[in-house]
Amino acid sequence: MSFPKCKICFDRFSDTDSEHIPRNLTCGHALCHKCITAMVNNSTVECPFCRTVTNIVNNDITKLLKNFALIEVIEDARYSLNKKDVVVSCITEGLLNSSFG
Ligand SMILES: [Zn+2]
Ligand SMILES: [Zn+2]
Repeated sequence: MSFPKCKICFDRFSDTDSEHIPRNLTCGHALCHKCITAMVNNSTVECPFCRTVTNIVNNDITKLLKNFALIEVIEDARYSLNKKDVVVSCITEGLLNSSFG
């Protein structure tokens, strides 16, 4: 299965590397922490996919909610990589598609 990646920088999302934690914009699209940081302008971020503007209080990106659906996929992917077990892949692929909208 494919590991969930940020659609802007194509780095893998991570739940442990703070630069690559997937975070939700107001519109529901998810980007990694690093890309949102790079796009903040006057406490707002314009979504690169749908142009919805998300307000970021005090430019503090950590106030944006983590995308826990993606974090679960990451954990499952890591688990199945370790275990060489692909049984969960069809479930996680479905989650992935719905969370990217
Ligand atoms: Zn990114
Ligand atoms: Zn969007």
